[in-house]
Amino acid sequence: MKPLIYDLDYPVLEKALLALSEPAYRARQVWQGLYQSLWSQADQFTPLSAVLRQKLGETFAFSHLTPGPILDSSDRQTRKTMFTLPDGYAIEAVLMRYGKSGAVKTRRTLCISTQAGCAMGCVFCATGQMGFKRHLTSGEIIEQILFYARQLQPMGEKVTNVVLMGMGEPFHNYEATMQAIDRLGDAQGFNFGARRFTISTVGLVPMIRRFANEHRQVNLAVSLHAVQDELRQSMLPVNKRYPVDELLSACREYVDKTNRRITFEWALINGVNDSVDQARLLGERLRGLLCHVNLIPLNPTQGYAGQGSTQERAKAFTAELARFGIPCTLRLRRGIDIQAGCGQLATGKTR
Ligand code: SF4
Repeated sequence: MKPLIYDLDYPVLEKALLALSEPAYRARQVWQGLYQSLWSQADQFTPLSAVLRQKLGETFAFSHLTPGPILDSSDRQTRKTMFTLPDGYAIEAVLMRYGKSGAVKTRRTLCISTQAGCAMGCVFCATGQMGFKRHLTSGEIIEQILFYARQLQPMGEKVTNVVLMGMGEPFHNYEATMQAIDRLGDAQGFNFGARRFTISTVGLVPMIRRFANEHRQVNLAVSLHAVQDELRQSMLPVNKRYPVDELLSACREYVDKTNRRITFEWALINGVNDSVDQARLLGERLRGLLCHVNLIPLNPTQGYAGQGSTQERAKAFTAELARFGIPCTLRLRRGIDIQAGCGQLATGKTR
């Protein structure tokens, strides 16, 4: 199989072009074509000679992702695409629009995948229910972002934020994830700053520590969902390996080392983890930590009986947390009508 061109760092691309007997400056032209003009086929590189365009097409693959149908939510604010990889596995990425086109605070946030399937087995997650298939390469992670960037381009819009919260555990595919972020950050290319990325982890403690030591500008979110080990373990099997005390101590180390705020995700599940008592326990554990809590009523999945909290319970939970001075946001579920919860479309296909 030909190498995917988005898997190449700039120096590697330069070497590859030298091997094709092309001068080093051609790499800059190709790089800009890929990441600034967003070209996705060799024959679009018209500043290059026809011979070189042909060589590029013969040497590299320009796509590993075959998009399936594009699904828009009824309010047209959420768009989901399933992609098929060359080996047949399915992944997905979701675009969420916040604010009208052209408005000052417009956001175009992408939620992308880092793995096909996932090994973490979180019980309420459609991806967890399908199991692990394989890691994505850095280029396959990048290609999801470029796909949506091309869709937004004709409207004069750009991707503003990327959350690594789709299929997969990004810290289980640490190298490829960081390579993708670094490659997209190049000012001569896509120029997408690290601060605009958010990595969401289920709590792989050694990787949180590694991430803290690297002092990256990338935002960190941790899926917490419970602070009692027994309850958390019943939802997130990873808690057996990295229990709550160990996880929160790694989170505190992260904040101390980086001075960056950490976000905790809490899926509100009716009658499971959404009582006022549980909000109090959470408030006690997070008191004094530079953090923010995102509360989001659970998106229902086929393989899990739990339902999202009622509005009343969600509001009571939020109010209790606020008593501890913990900043929190009660978020809306988005794209339920297009199964935009993590892994739902791809599992529908692979079952
Ligand atoms: S919630 Fe995230 S970490 Fe857990 S199984 Fe789903 S994709 Fe994996």
